[in-house]
Amino acid sequence: MAQPVPSDPDLRALESLLAFWSEAGVEVCLEDEPVDRMAPLAPPQRPQAAPAPLRQAPAPETSPEIGEALETARATAAAAGDLAALAEAIAAFEGCPLRFQGARQPVFSRGDPAAPVMVIGEGPGGEEDQQGAPFVGRAGKLLDLMLNAAGLHDRVFITNTVFWRPPGNRTPTLAEQSVCAPFVERAIELVGPKMLLLVGGASAKFMLRKDEGILSLRGRWFEWRASSAELVLPALPTLHPAFLLRQPAAKKRAWSDLLTLAERLDRQARPA
Ligand code: URA
Repeated sequence: MAQPVPSDPDLRALESLLAFWSEAGVEVCLEDEPVDRMAPLAPPQRPQAAPAPLRQAPAPETSPEIGEALETARATAAAAGDLAALAEAIAAFEGCPLRFQGARQPVFSRGDPAAPVMVIGEGPGGEEDQQGAPFVGRAGKLLDLMLNAAGLHDRVFITNTVFWRPPGNRTPTLAEQSVCAPFVERAIELVGPKMLLLVGGASAKFMLRKDEGILSLRGRWFEWRASSAELVLPALPTLHPAFLLRQPAAKKRAWSDLLTLAERLDRQARPA
C-alpha cells in the first residue's frame, strides 16, 4: 500500500523535530532494543571492516574483554614517559569499545602540559571528534570564556574521562571510563597539576567514585586518589557547560565554583 505523503506542515514539524534532536547531539541511529551497558563486555573480536562512517548505526560492542583491556591500558600508560608518548599510546589502544562505534579519531588533550589545574570533562562530542581536541564545540567555547574571566585560561590542561566520542553524545559508561582511566591517571602524573576541576556529573561521579548527582557534588572540595593511593589531589566538581547552555540560570553556580578554584590556586601560589 502506498505511504501517505506528509503535508507541508507535517514536513516542517518533522524537520524541526530532527533539528531539535541533532542540536541535542542525537545524530546516529541506535539499536531498537535497549543495551545493558553494565553487562560483561563481549569476548575479543576485531572489527571486520574499516570503522563505520559517522551517522551509521554503531557496531555492536566488540571490545576485548575488560580485564584484558585494563591490563593493556595500565601497561601502555605506565610506559609513556611524556604526554606525546601517552597520546600515541591512547591512539594505539584498542580496548575501549567507543573506538569502534563511529568515532573519527581519539581526542586526548589541549592546554598547558605543566598546568596547575587539570580540567576533566566527560567525553568528546561531535566538534571534538572532528577536530581531535577536547572542549572545542559550543560548550567548550563557553568553558573557555568562563576560564578566561576567572583568570584560569592559560593555567589549565584539558582532557576527558574517555577519548572517543560516545555515539549520539550519550554519557560514557562505567566500563568505557574504567578502561580509559589508566591513561587519565598517567596524564595527571605527567602534568602534575595542583588540583582537578571535574566538569559534569559523569566526570565527577567517576573520578571521585561518588553516587550523588552533580547538583549536590558541585562546589565542594573532595580528594581524588590515584589507584596507587600515592598521589592525592584536591578536586572540585562543577556543572557542565553544555548544561549551562540549556540552563543559563545555573551559570552563577558554575562561576562561583571557578572563583573558588582560582582563589585556592592563588592562595597556594602566594609565599607563606
Ligand atoms: N563535553 C565534554 O565533556 N568534553 C568535551 O571535550 C566536549 C564536550
